[in-house]
Amino acid sequence: MSGTTLVNFRLDQETKRSMEGVCHDLGMSMTTAFTLFAKKVDRERRIPFDVSLDGTPSPSVAQPVTIATNHADPAVIVEDVVRVFGEGATERRALDGASLTVRRGEFVAIMGPSGSGKSTLLHILGGVDSATSGRVVVDGMDLSTLGSNALALYRRHTVGLVYQFHNLVPFLSARDNIELPVRFDGSRPDPATITELLELLDIADCEKSMPSELSGGQQQRVAIARALVSRPAVILADEPTGSLDRANGEKVVELLRRARERFGTTVVLVTHDEGVAAAADRVVRISDGRVVCGEE
Ligand code: ADP
Ligand code: MG
Repeated sequence: MSGTTLVNFRLDQETKRSMEGVCHDLGMSMTTAFTLFAKKVDRERRIPFDVSLDGTPSPSVAQPVTIATNHADPAVIVEDVVRVFGEGATERRALDGASLTVRRGEFVAIMGPSGSGKSTLLHILGGVDSATSGRVVVDGMDLSTLGSNALALYRRHTVGLVYQFHNLVPFLSARDNIELPVRFDGSRPDPATITELLELLDIADCEKSMPSELSGGQQQRVAIARALVSRPAVILADEPTGSLDRANGEKVVELLRRARERFGTTVVLVTHDEGVAAAADRVVRISDGRVVCGEE
């Protein structure tokens, strides 16, 4: 695809924010995403058309980018990573020499005070932010060597991101949300794969529901299913239980463990909750942008 497309939508703030977040994480321009959804949205009359998004679509079909992965490597290597925001008087070292290694198939919980750099670390691992210095290797790939196309594919294939809020596109059904990364690749989802995920995450009853019809726990399980749909090497979850009650939070953690058992997925989860962290294989503590405890 190339050239300029004009797509018209009227978006409320929440829809716009979710779309921006999801598109950003999955390495897709808003224009391309809406071009993809135009028929569906029009047919189902979920939202009226009335906003102009004018831009060049991003590459949607899997590019012939070969990324060499070495499966003998640990899933995640973070070596002396620094991330500086701002400069001069406003400079903030969000990460200040953080180092961490996560084995394949390991479930690691990251804990630390607010502002200690946990989200920054996850964003860098997710390829949505980059380190100022240091080395980050995920699934055998040094992220600093990936160009923008490879990085977009990396976000869709190698990692799956789950947040506390705003994970789902509000005008798409649960099933459509789960299929998003596959559709962004220009592929057709394999129905058996989607059904397997719906069953694994105990949301088979919800597949046709819109996010607003689901409980917070169900929404989060749909978000996890979407994060798993491309069989990523690593799930990166930033306080995924932060807005859930205890029972739903425990369920989410149990399902992440179940996904790890089924697919061998490595899980890196940020949490404030000691109970949630206790379900992990290992707890890593961060303070002032450094790993201070739990690194092997
Ligand atoms: P945590 O997730 O542990 O609460 P963050 O990684 O969000 O911490 O933030 C670490 C530090 O970096 C904080 O001081 C935060 O204000 C700062 N920070 C994070 N993102 C940005 C940004 N985009 N611009 C400027 N400062 C930032
Ligand atoms: Mg955070």
